[in-house]
Amino acid sequence: MHLRQQQTIRRPQSVTGIGFLTGADVTVRFLPAPPNHGIVFQRVDLPETPQVLAHISNCPDRKRRTALQKGEAVIELTEHVLAALAGLQVDNCLVQLNAPELPGGDGSSLLFADAIMQAEIIAQDAPRPCVPVSEPLQAHLDGLSGLISVEPNRSGVLEISYDLNYGPESPVPVEQQAFTITPESFLNELAFARTFIQETEIDVLRAQGYGTRTTAADLIVFRADGSVMDNKLRIEDECVRHKILDCIGDFALIGCDLIGTFHATQSGHELNREIIRQVARSEKQQLQKQIPCTTAESDSTTHSESTPSSDMGEAA
Ligand SMILES: [Zn+2]
Repeated sequence: MHLRQQQTIRRPQSVTGIGFLTGADVTVRFLPAPPNHGIVFQRVDLPETPQVLAHISNCPDRKRRTALQKGEAVIELTEHVLAALAGLQVDNCLVQLNAPELPGGDGSSLLFADAIMQAEIIAQDAPRPCVPVSEPLQAHLDGLSGLISVEPNRSGVLEISYDLNYGPESPVPVEQQAFTITPESFLNELAFARTFIQETEIDVLRAQGYGTRTTAADLIVFRADGSVMDNKLRIEDECVRHKILDCIGDFALIGCDLIGTFHATQSGHELNREIIRQVARSEKQQLQKQIPCTTAESDSTTHSESTPSSDMGEAA
């Protein structure tokens, strides 16, 4: 039986970039935080510098992205930052930003994962709560083809499989992938996978005022013939890897480690949030009890190389 300790970062680390939505120049500071603090975003550009806990209960409705909101304080595009923190098992962090959205970086989690690794991940003297999913659940949206489901697993890990298939007319390739999520698999297989869009969608976004300072070199843009505009893929199945990265960021909104096997087909941020709401409802009793994370298996080694504690990370 193994217990994962909570983790934070040893020292502050900053990153800068341009917001995909507003085109704002954004500075983000990752700061250490005490046990049981969680991931908290803070808008330092607003009066009284309001904070918003990264939790599913603080998510406003958004299509194609995830945001957090409390009162007037809104933080858009949280998913790639939350994926980096959750993927690297950083549980407690104050994330300060001076704009209404996180910087887009290269459309992946790499900018944030690099900063977190430079800040050095350290263990804290408290167990990390977790939720083992105890019953099969599934979510879909009326009239849309996406589906996401989760079932319990006995191996004590978070597994995510994803089928990406927008149909024969779409230039986005058909891809399938599955990963057991650990800091190693996140860093090596997922963190670099960039977001993607179809060329035909760009004009719609620009008409809405989005992406004024973003170019085709900042993400993956598929032309109608399936070619990639002004860029090239980092790996053949980069798109499905990014969809799994998005799942990790959205699943982090439950606020603890998840044990379960997820299967997603065409799932986006709305469906990801819906399945997490279902898991939270289903496991409310366990959440309230804050059961420490224990696993039956001990053969996985999931600690990052910068983690100094020898007993860290054996529960994924
Ligand atoms: Zn994404």
